Amino acid sequence: MTVYTLPELPYSPGALEPHYSGEIVALHHDKHHAAYVKGANDTLDALAAAREKGDFAAINALSKSFAFHLSGHVLHSIFWTNMSPDGGGRPDGELAAAIDEYFGSFDAMQAQVTAATTSVQGIGWGALAWEPVGQRLVVEQIYDHQGNAGTTTVPLLVIDSWEHAFYLQYKNVKADWVKAFWNIANWQDVAARFAAARTTPSPL
Ligand code: MN
Repeated sequence: MTVYTLPELPYSPGALEPHYSGEIVALHHDKHHAAYVKGANDTLDALAAAREKGDFAAINALSKSFAFHLSGHVLHSIFWTNMSPDGGGRPDGELAAAIDEYFGSFDAMQAQVTAATTSVQGIGWGALAWEPVGQRLVVEQIYDHQGNAGTTTVPLLVIDSWEHAFYLQYKNVKADWVKAFWNIANWQDVAARFAAARTTPSPL
């Protein structure tokens, strides 16, 4: 059964150049993101089969596989909309005010997200997220796709720190990729995500 589907890119693959190469965007979306979608669907099927057989011998691997693939799908879906050919600059309005309130300044927030993204040990993501229990913005450093993040936090802006995200264009210089990302950051999308997250009551 197909539960999860690959979203269309909101722009043509080459639209983010020169900051983000069309070759990477196409591969990243059509191959990597697609694999997470398939993995999440396949794992749900495998879990259904395990329940049917009453055989949970593989429950540890399947549980991890589901978290990994679902989180990969979610983060990439956010990531594509977080970028725009018309991006860059800074947010305004309520998002800008909230960033000042929780981080002191836009520059301080940007420095923290940049540090979290560029210093991931192994593979992961940097993220600006809404934390609904404390009702505040936070920066998270995510391991793989599914680790090291608060259980109920809502990612608003995510930067892919996996080598597949930048290596073809930026080689080993991850800092240049993160610097380039800020030139295409879609603050309108982040602001819309922020408004939706903040007006949703805390799930706890
Ligand atoms: Mn990726």
